[in-house]
Amino acid sequence: MERTITLLRLWNIPIGVHPSWFLIFGLVTWSLATGYFPAEYPQLSLQAYWALGLLTSLLFFGSVLVHELAHALVALRNGVPVRQITLFIFGGAAYISEEPTRPGVEFRIAIAGPLASFALAGAFELLFLLDHAVPLLAAPSVWLARINLILALFNLIPGFPLDGGRMLRAAIWHWTGSFQRATLIASGVGQVVALGFSAWGIFTLLTGSIFNGLWLIFIGWFLQNAIAANYAQTSTRYLLQDVRVAQAMNTGFPRITPLTSLQTLIDTQILTSGQRVFVVANGDGIERLLTINEIKDVPAAQRPFTTVGQVAVPLDRLEAVAPEMKLMDVLGRLGQAGVYIPVVEQGRLVGLLSREDVTRLLEVRAQLNVRMEPQP
Ligand SMILES: [Zn+2]
Repeated sequence: MERTITLLRLWNIPIGVHPSWFLIFGLVTWSLATGYFPAEYPQLSLQAYWALGLLTSLLFFGSVLVHELAHALVALRNGVPVRQITLFIFGGAAYISEEPTRPGVEFRIAIAGPLASFALAGAFELLFLLDHAVPLLAAPSVWLARINLILALFNLIPGFPLDGGRMLRAAIWHWTGSFQRATLIASGVGQVVALGFSAWGIFTLLTGSIFNGLWLIFIGWFLQNAIAANYAQTSTRYLLQDVRVAQAMNTGFPRITPLTSLQTLIDTQILTSGQRVFVVANGDGIERLLTINEIKDVPAAQRPFTTVGQVAVPLDRLEAVAPEMKLMDVLGRLGQAGVYIPVVEQGRLVGLLSREDVTRLLEVRAQLNVRMEPQP
């Protein structure tokens, strides 16, 4: 969800749309303007259908936003920060920056969205009872009441990471006291739900309804992906939550002198030991970092005549972290393989952090089942 276009801020939360939102917004408007409204009001002009379609679409996405804001409001009330709210193809998502620390809090945050959608469905139903005699208001009111009801019910499906899945996780977490086990079970139920959607989609497809079939298969596929990503992220966060940079950093990097040629380094160290990162200590006291990436950029023919001091990167040009920082807070910077973050304490290099170091630590922790439950 990185490619998000921010529209406005509310309670200091950036509210944006994912590019896929424009597609679904267009589709909803189009289906209303060419299908629903012409059927409801046969005598109107084309412009009127599109105007009604656009307005109703906007109110629909306003409803989705209200659903997400309900999650955000309850999160903020419980002291859980909200990073952003994004509207995308299936409605919306509120990005809560930390996993809630108590099952009760998670349950309340999760249920707030569907409750808001039920309330909106009720409000539009009430509006319909008041305006059913007013020609241009009746059909949009009915449609909005129905779509909010669908939104509430869809989100209550107990497939993690849908709201219903989060509520299920909170409940299991409450009963078993184990956040990890609750996440595992709720993700498993989510997988079954996702498979159910796909199977239903294939069945629908085979019975001749191609559009509905593809749509259901797409929902199944989408849920499947969301569950897998969410589960991996939750596990990583869970396994690493008590880890500091100092515990994961690599301190076994060789120091080399600046006048060594690249070719010598390749022949005597890289090819023989597989070492991929070096610290170059220059006479000027400034430490430099040399990784495979810098060597790669030098053509092979020039490597015998290029010294490591010439291509190594001075540490002050790299963004360093402190050893006592939380590992979770710096994980985002370790995006690609082969990236090394210098760990600096009082101006001195004490270690290097790479994605490989974190992966190794994760494997060891998972194998040994080292865990620390969030305190209920
Ligand atoms: Zn929700």
